[in-house]
Order: sequence, then C-alpha cells, then structure tokens
Amino acid sequence: MNKIQMSVPLVEIDGDEMTRILWRQVKEELLLPYINLKTEYYDLSLKERERTGDQVTVKAAMAIRERGVGVKCATITPNAQRMEEYHLTQMWKSPNGTIRSLLDGTVFRTPILASCIRPVVRNWKRPITIARHAYGDVYRATEVRVPGEGRAELLFTGADGMLIRQTVYDFEGAGVMQAQYNKDASIFSFARSCFQFALDRGEPLWFSTKDTISKTYDHRFKDVFAEIYETEYKAAFEAAGIHYFYTLIDDAVARVVRSEGGFIWALKNYDGDVMSDMVSTAFGSLAMMTSVLVSPDGKYEYEAAHGTVTKHYHRYLKGEAVSTNPMATLFAWTGAIGKRGELDGNKPLTAFARRLENAAVRTIEDGVMTKDLAGICEGVTARTVDSLAFLSAVRQRL
Ligand code: NAP
Ligand code: MG
Repeated sequence: MNKIQMSVPLVEIDGDEMTRILWRQVKEELLLPYINLKTEYYDLSLKERERTGDQVTVKAAMAIRERGVGVKCATITPNAQRMEEYHLTQMWKSPNGTIRSLLDGTVFRTPILASCIRPVVRNWKRPITIARHAYGDVYRATEVRVPGEGRAELLFTGADGMLIRQTVYDFEGAGVMQAQYNKDASIFSFARSCFQFALDRGEPLWFSTKDTISKTYDHRFKDVFAEIYETEYKAAFEAAGIHYFYTLIDDAVARVVRSEGGFIWALKNYDGDVMSDMVSTAFGSLAMMTSVLVSPDGKYEYEAAHGTVTKHYHRYLKGEAVSTNPMATLFAWTGAIGKRGELDGNKPLTAFARRLENAAVRTIEDGVMTKDLAGICEGVTARTVDSLAFLSAVRQRL
C-alpha cells in the first residue's frame, strides 16, 4: 500500500505518564502504517522540562506559531509532591498555560458522540462546543480580607497622571473585596478566535455574559463581539448560512438545555470553567472530550481534555492490564492531521483523519470499548478491552 504523503510537518508535543504510553500506541497502530508522518518533535515530559529549564515548552509554542498546527500529549503540571517525585529545581508552570499565553489563544472543547452513549440531556443530538476565554477576570484578581470599618476605593493612575477614583463601599464592619480586570487586546483576540472557529466548523456562535448587571465590564465583552461580527465576519457567516447570537447567561443556560446542540457557546473565563465541566459530564465522559487551542491568527494546537491518568499509569508500571480510553488522544491526532491537510490542500490526509475518527466511533458503537465507557453505554453488549486491543479493533474497521 502507498502511504499518504505530507508536505509540511506537524508540531508533535510528547508528554507524561499513561498518555505518553497511549501516544506511542496510537502512532504505531493507527498512523505510521498509513501516513508518511512528518513531525517536528518536542518532548515536554517533566524530565525534559527540568533538564532544559522549561525552554523546551517555549520552543514548542514557537514551533506551532511557525508551522500553524500542533498536537500535544497531556503533561504533568508540577505540585509539591511532583517536586519530590521528579527532583525538580523549580515548580515549572503549567505547559498549557505557557503555550496558551504565547499563542494568545482560546480553548474550544467538543465532546465525541457515539450512539450508545446517551447524553444526560436527552434532546442533545449534536455536540456543544464550549469556547472559554482563558485570560483574566477572577483568575487574575486581587483579593483583600477587609479587617473592619473603613472605606474601600478603586483607584486607577494613568501613565499620563490621570486619576480615576471611585468608592466601592463604606464598610461598617469586616468583610471581603476583590478587584478584577481584563484587557481590550485579549477580548478582541477571544472574539476573533470564536468567530473563526465557528466559521471553520460551520456552526452558529452563541455568546453570553451578565451585561445587565455588569454594565461596564461584561458590556465591554458584548460590544467587542458585536463590533468584530459587524466589521469582520457578518458577510462570511451569512454566506456559510450560520448566525451569531448574543443572550444573557441565565437565558443561555435555559436555551442550551432545551437545544439539540450543534453550536459553539462562547463564555467568559469563569463561566467557561464551570459550564465546560457541566457540558462534558452531561455528554458522558471526560475521556471523550477533545480540546483545541486556536489563536486569533489561525494557529491550532490539538489535545485531549483530560490529564495524564496517573492512577492507571501506576497500575501499568506494575504490569497490570489497563483499560485507559485513548479516544481523546486519538482525536487530538486526527484533529491536527485533518487541519494540516486542510491548510496544505492535502485532501487524502484530511480524508484519512475523518475515516479514522469514524472507525473509532464505530468500534465503540459495535460494543468494543474501554472500561470507563462500558459502565455508561446503552443498547449494546459491551466488551471491555485494554487500550491497545481497542486501538487494534479500530484498525480492523479502518
Ligand atoms: P486525569 O489524568 O484527567 O485523571 C483523573 C481520572 O479521570 C482518572 O483517574 C480516571 O478515573 C479518569 N480518566 C481521565 N482520563 C481518562 C481516560 N482517558 N480513560 C479512562 N479514564 C480516564 O486527572 P488527574 O489525575 O487529576 O491528573 C493527573 C495529572 O495530569 C496531573 O499531574 C495533572 O497536572 C495533569 N493534567 C494535565 C492536563 C493537560 O496536560 N491537559 C490536564 C489535566 C491534568 P479512574 O481512576 O476512576 O479510572
Ligand atoms: Mg474547571
């Protein structure tokens, strides 16, 4: 058989623990036999991040900026326990955070649907993609425990000396306070990434905030989205037969639950954090959730939404059979390969990615699945297999 050729390499970012094992299995079983895979490889295992003083993470992000498409394996974000386990000289920052800030991107999370895994919300028929603004607000807030009676003020000192001063509250006793911020530049990037992504997928874009209460802060988000839509995307949306829709967040929640799915739901940082867990759980499983970081100038980084599945890895090291679900890792690869094909005008490559995705979903629908899904599937008799056996069942169907 002739292998499918690639002209431009993908940026391949390897990671840690169980997902590093799945990474190799996916490549050997489902990619290398069919594609003359061209990648620019970066090893982001915690050991390599330590050895390079985390420079490897920055290099990987720059490579995505240059090449346009990357695929990333889950990586450990160190904590105190990992410092000891890996003898780290520093508590290196989350690689995802580093890459996100270098690409200035928005994270889109989309569930993978299979007919035997029914969403908890029974009218959901198509995926709902959550687009979470990954910058600012409460994640970068300054908080103060107010000790007792006194005045709280908000003070801005302009670089030109201009002063804005407002009373927040005259405290009659102890309490708490918090200051949040966001930047126009980041909100514009967020809006552009969302409109671009909706256009790429051919699905409508919804956006919701609480602008009736937050008349300056949230209203700024609403205005930026409206401006970008009118000036940059309206014509393209109309041509594609999709629409942009803004509504209050509480109204959006009610509409999402009543909907059939099939749209992108853009949310501010905190709302996106909360709603993505709600939506992914209602669709079935974190192991069936894909994630892609899209920059406003159209660079893509695909990954799984879950972590390195540490508990399974410890069992794997003891030689026990593990049944970790490789779907999200596989779909990170097919997402990246399909996008590479699209950008390079390489139709066989994109077609292969879609065929591989279909074969993987059909494998589950035929009843062959990992342990996490066996417990929640309906309408088929599930045969539970380990990760590698699942991948070879996919290969048979492919
Ligand atoms: P996790 O790796 O997502 O795993 C949490 C639990 O979810 C697992 O123990 C397992 O449950 C289930 N699970 C997740 N993915 C699965 C899959 N593919 N197949 C089957 N079950 C799956 O989260 P964590 O244990 O909190 O974090 C482990 C490490 O991952 C941490 O060091 C963290 O820093 C890192 N992390 C990385 C990323 C990233 O790189 N994007 C994201 C999140 C976390 P059962 O044990 O019940 O089977
Ligand atoms: Mg969360």
